[in-house]
Amino acid sequence: MQQTPQRRAAEQIASVLRKAGHVALFAGGCVRDMLMGRSPKDIDIATDAPPARVVRLFRRTRKVGAKFGVVMVRVADCELEVATFRTESDYADHRRPRKVVFSTAEADAQRRDFTINGMFYDPVADNVIDYVGGRADLDAGLIRAIGEADRRFDEDHLRMLRAVRFAARFEFKIEERTHEAIRRNAPGIRTISAERVRMEIEQILTDVNRRRGWELLRRAGLSAHLAEGLTWTDAQADAGARRLDALPETASFPLALAALLRAEAPPDARRVCTRLRCSSAHAAAVEWLLAQLPRVTASADLELADIKLLAADPRFADLTALLRADLDSQGLSPEPHAHLLDRARRIVPSQLSPPPLLTGEDLVALNVPAGPQYGKILAQVYRAQLNDRISDREAALAMARNLLEEKE
Ligand code: ATP
Ligand code: MG
Repeated sequence: MQQTPQRRAAEQIASVLRKAGHVALFAGGCVRDMLMGRSPKDIDIATDAPPARVVRLFRRTRKVGAKFGVVMVRVADCELEVATFRTESDYADHRRPRKVVFSTAEADAQRRDFTINGMFYDPVADNVIDYVGGRADLDAGLIRAIGEADRRFDEDHLRMLRAVRFAARFEFKIEERTHEAIRRNAPGIRTISAERVRMEIEQILTDVNRRRGWELLRRAGLSAHLAEGLTWTDAQADAGARRLDALPETASFPLALAALLRAEAPPDARRVCTRLRCSSAHAAAVEWLLAQLPRVTASADLELADIKLLAADPRFADLTALLRADLDSQGLSPEPHAHLLDRARRIVPSQLSPPPLLTGEDLVALNVPAGPQYGKILAQVYRAQLNDRISDREAALAMARNLLEEKE
């Protein structure tokens, strides 16, 4: 593993624990990542020292789940999780263990979800400690539940989505018995909080292997239970897969969701996002992308003002990517995409969203009464400005006066 600041902090924490007579090992995902030559998101440390002891040994600590044996320790500029070896049982709501007993490294490995996530690494001896056969599964490219798969997924339903996430991300297979257990328990994901489901879906869909993730969700029988009221025909799910495949490697969550939810009416797609507890910005973005997609597909019908208004939107890049994926996935000509980009590129940046020539104050001066008319006139005059039909204040005022007379 590279000598990152995080790695140095982890070694320092392990060394302090060791000098105090404790076992201290890197644990879980970081060991897996290290063996795969990937840089881990975070390095977690597992120890036999109880939380109170961990807190006493370090100057800057923060208890996040002392009950569960977890203490955050800050060293240099890194904050790492130090967790006491533990056994978990008596799961509440198929998600959280109610009972935690401090235990050994071996027992701690048994509570983890998948074999590839169940290994430890001793930074002093530079050796991997593997009680669960994680090394072999890592080499074979397998996601295998630790222990009895059915029981593990029943304890914690979220693990089913985690299995898919890891299998997609690493291009691994889900081992057969693990897969069968997921198929049996799949409807259970309906009972876990929408927010947790969304967090997993977000990670699956923003990963470059999003298509694979989607196919795995389907095959495991999970796609039918993602959100209340969201159902898929095979044809819709296939089309979704093809659109996900056609997205650029890096795609925002709203972009990927819009690609997947393309068959829904835009307001319905938004409702699905809301049910998944997506942020309101993301839910609005999905609705906007799907509402704009037909417009930009027939972009020859758009006026210069429309192009400017679209191109000035921070979500425009996502819109063009969605258009491209939508066309590619159906084997259609990429021409509308090229045409849209070409028109947007020809706009001088300062002309994209210029300050309006006509303002509310001007309308007040013209004695326009407050009301719906007010906004409409401002919008119409601004469109004329964006369409390069008027270019100074005089023309803007004249147009406003004309519009007023027409209405009277
Ligand atoms: P990522 O790279 O996405 O962070 P990770 O494997 O590090 O993947 P985390 O959610 O950070 O996953 O959890 C760290 C470790 O804790 C896992 O590797 C696994 O050993 C254990 N773990 C996490 N969630 C669960 C769970 N729901 N059930 C059992 N063990 C879990
Ligand atoms: Mg992690």
